[in-house]
Amino acid sequence: MPIKPENRDRYPDNWKQIRERILARAGNCCEQCRVPNGVTVLRGMASDKGRYQMPDGVVRDAENGGLVCLRPFEFLGTPVKIVLTVAHLDHTPENCADDNLKALCQWHHLRYDAKHHAETARQTRRAKLAIGDLFATNED
Ligand SMILES: [Zn+2]
Repeated sequence: MPIKPENRDRYPDNWKQIRERILARAGNCCEQCRVPNGVTVLRGMASDKGRYQMPDGVVRDAENGGLVCLRPFEFLGTPVKIVLTVAHLDHTPENCADDNLKALCQWHHLRYDAKHHAETARQTRRAKLAIGDLFATNED
């Protein structure tokens, strides 16, 4: 996941080294689904949704990397080149403690962040509603 320009100053100067260390710790694979960095997999669709197929034909569970089958007769999917990223589990770029960092494929990183974005958006809506309540008038 590319660093947003507005967040660039929040990353330490040695971020590149930290990132390399976390990818090495993970064996250069997604720590969620075990997909290796840089390979092109077929991301399953339709009846194969929730799975991915490695270049050697092995099909794995997209959730946890568990083996589904060795070589299916047919696999429905779209090619995706895997790019590993390093996620901050607390969504705080300044917190580069090892236990706050996790190597994730782009799919799992987006999913992890989407949960956070949904929660943040919900809190923002609530805060706006609360502010609205402060200025509401009793005209009913
Ligand atoms: Zn993954």
